[in-house]
Amino acid sequence: MRLHVLGSSGGYPASDNPSTGFLLEHGATRLWIDAGNGTFAVLQRLTDFTQLDALVLSHLHPDHCADLYSLHIALRYRVDGALRLPLYGPPGTLEALGGLLGADGAENLGATFPFHAVDAGDTVEVGDFRLRFLRTDHPGHTLAIRAETDAGTLTYSADTGPNADLAGFAQGSDLLVCEATYQEGKVGAPVHLTARQAGETARHAGVRELAVTHVWPTFDPQIAVVEARSAAGDIPVRWARSGEVFTVGSGPAAEI
Ligand SMILES: [Zn+2]
Repeated sequence: MRLHVLGSSGGYPASDNPSTGFLLEHGATRLWIDAGNGTFAVLQRLTDFTQLDALVLSHLHPDHCADLYSLHIALRYRVDGALRLPLYGPPGTLEALGGLLGADGAENLGATFPFHAVDAGDTVEVGDFRLRFLRTDHPGHTLAIRAETDAGTLTYSADTGPNADLAGFAQGSDLLVCEATYQEGKVGAPVHLTARQAGETARHAGVRELAVTHVWPTFDPQIAVVEARSAAGDIPVRWARSGEVFTVGSGPAAEI
């Protein structure tokens, strides 16, 4: 399994880092996970968007889903013929996002994106992946995602405050991609984690590697790495920089 970081800026894009999004591939399956603003441009440098197998949204805050509108245009008005792409997201996704497209917006989006509502406790098979979900501690309906394959397991925190059992959900993962919005002495609304809390979560979950993501754009991500490391024990920690690639577990992975 391989994870390509499209963008990882928390809240809004930085000048050199789009908002949140990842391309996750294993075997013949390619999933686009979260479509924050700026991620579609990066994705197109890595793969043909018509070859994706699904788009998966953790929640409906714009820094995690705004580029769905661009993908909708690209698929629906494609010169060589419209295409459709399965969409997995929290209940009510089409209605919420369709609102921006007018009275028939939900129907319009649904024509492009056959929609599968997912929620805490669900398990869905998408190509070579088995996906599980956890409701997180974050405004709106936000879902952490655990992606399992025959070769390894990745858990993505989505956005969350400290009051969710992310460590239990991520237990034994090869890679935990965990939000680390805040830093020591720089803490805003309690709907996100600090880098130290991300490190503690990784240690409690017993993961093999931690990637810190969703760092607030005006903060230094290397400080997030240092603070996460201070709480993560001997677990390796890296920043999920845009362009970074993580090999997760072992076994075959499609080449891009
Ligand atoms: Zn959010």
